[in-house]
This record gives sequence, C-alpha cells and structure tokens, in this order.
Amino acid sequence: IARTSQLHASLTQTTFIAVKPDGVNRRLVGKIIQRFEEKGFQLVAMKMIQPPRELVEEHYAEHKGKGFYNGLVDYLCGGPVVAMQWKGKGVIARSRAMMGATKDAAPGTIRGDFSIEVGRNLVHGSDCAEAAEREIKLWFGEDKINYEDACEKWIYE
Ligand code: GDP
Ligand code: MG
Repeated sequence: IARTSQLHASLTQTTFIAVKPDGVNRRLVGKIIQRFEEKGFQLVAMKMIQPPRELVEEHYAEHKGKGFYNGLVDYLCGGPVVAMQWKGKGVIARSRAMMGATKDAAPGTIRGDFSIEVGRNLVHGSDCAEAAEREIKLWFGEDKINYEDACEKWIYE
C-alpha cells in the first residue's frame, strides 16, 4: 500500500498539450498523440475547439507586444486546435523535450521531425507547473476524467 500511494503521488503531474491548427490540417494529430502514448503518458482530457480570440490572447499573454504576437494569435485562431491534458511522472519537462525547442528543434522531436518554421510549429506544451495549472484552467475549467491507469506498474518501477 505504501508503494502504491507513493507511486500515485509521483504521477500527479499533469500538463496542457495542444495540437495547433497546422497539425490538425496536416493530419498529424494521430502521430502527435501516438508519441505521448508510446512514451507511457496517460491522456486524461481531450477536445477539439476553434478557440475564440480572447482565449488565445490570454493563453499567450506573456508574448503580448512582441513582433510575432498578432500573427501568433491569428495562427492559433485560424483553425481547430486539439486541446489535451496528459499525466505522468515529469510530464511537463519530458513532453517539452519530446516537442523540441522553440527555435531549430532537433531531429527526433515532434517539431524537429515535422516542421520547418517557428510560426508553424504544430504543438504547444506548458513550460512549468504554474503555466500548466493556468492553461488547464483556461482551456478546460475543471473538466478532466480521473481513471485508473491499468498499465501503471509496467511503466513505473
Ligand atoms: P514555446 O513555448 O516553445 O511554444 O515558445 P514560446 O512560448 O517562446 O512562443 C510561443 C509560440 O509563439 C511558439 O510556439 C511559436 O508558435 C511562436 N513564436 C515564438 N517565437 C516566434 C518568432 O520569433 N516568430 C514567429 N513567427 N513565431 C514565434
Ligand atoms: Mg511557451
């Protein structure tokens, strides 16, 4: 029992991941989801939404005033977004590493393998715990399903 509750405690980290409109239009949703599934992370919420401008402006509030900000908001509002919550040990940092860097993402990463331009980089992921909490609230409110992870013991020691 001690081991089980310890394991559960270390798995409570959840992050917000979104496939941006270029990823949806380029039919890469399945591939992107597959990367996180294959890693062992658990999908706990998902929806497709064409986000209203106010939502995207708030999501990217930290970039307001930058040269690329208006184009960035247009980009995110320009089609459907697949918004998700993923759960697992170290998921925030690990999913960012799997996405690849903002600029010149390395081959082997999602951005590095499937995109060329920083302004068409397919995927968003929260960059810290505070951002994850804020973004999940913004995109989902309280909506998430907590279900037992049946293969947990085969993914975590
Ligand atoms: P991220 O956390 O890796 O997504 O990167 P940032 O938080 O720095 O930027 C948010 C998003 O803005 C990026 O994912 C890009 O889509 C976009 N972006 C960032 N920098 C640039 C830039 O220099 N030019 C353009 N066109 N878009 C940018
Ligand atoms: Mg960011």
